[in-house]
Amino acid sequence: MFCPKCGVEFVEGITTCSDCGLELEVEPPPTPEGKFVEWVTILADRNYGRTGLAESILQAEGIEYVTEGDNTRWTELNEPVRVCVHPEDVERAKKKLDELLVGDQEE
Ligand SMILES: [Zn+2]
Repeated sequence: MFCPKCGVEFVEGITTCSDCGLELEVEPPPTPEGKFVEWVTILADRNYGRTGLAESILQAEGIEYVTEGDNTRWTELNEPVRVCVHPEDVERAKKKLDELLVGDQEE
């Protein structure tokens, strides 16, 4: 028996997860491996010039990234554009961005 939320396996006879309190299922939840791509936000900024620069840096470094909120609808709501990379690239990407964006932060 498996918890659908945390994926912990329980012995037969137990019906709810001790951590989540959810009802256990016979099948384990699908493994994230190879299916689900996790993104980590490394920059959230309303300044398109800055996020654009970040994108070009990541591109130049060959770091895979996605941007979220990069359209007019979000701009109207004054939502920051988020630049996200894979967890394994976070440190490398942040280091590169820090080098170029240092001293240029609002707040
Ligand atoms: Zn659980």
